Amino acid sequence: MAEETIFSKIIRREIPADILYQDELVTAFRDITPKAPTHILIIPNHLIPTANDIKASDEKALGRMMSVAAKLAQEAGIAEDGYRLIMNCNKHGGQEVFHIHMHLVGGHHLGPMLS
Ligand code: AMP
Repeated sequence: MAEETIFSKIIRREIPADILYQDELVTAFRDITPKAPTHILIIPNHLIPTANDIKASDEKALGRMMSVAAKLAQEAGIAEDGYRLIMNCNKHGGQEVFHIHMHLVGGHHLGPMLS
């Protein structure tokens, strides 16, 4: 059984977070250490530790994460200029919190991703 992270406490509103969206499948909140003018994390409400653990039964929540990202990008006013959606996996990917999350980052030119 995978261990809960701080993100489960955010979903249950047991610790403060700037939650922008929540439904029965996903939660989105502002990253506490933003790396760009807009930096939002979108997560499934159920615990999936890493991208390696994604199962077919998670597809509905993962699809919702994508559509919520598009909606929040529109609301943030960054859709037309563009943004980046990132999911880090494990050590080489730089994952620090083991509850999968999609970073929605934008608000300025991000430059090449791989350098
Ligand atoms: P990653 O390196 O992909 O695992 O990213 C984890 C992200 O979670 C980092 O960008 C952190 O700034 C962010 N983070 C960690 N704790 C919190 C928190 N309590 N509220 C909001 N964002 C958080």
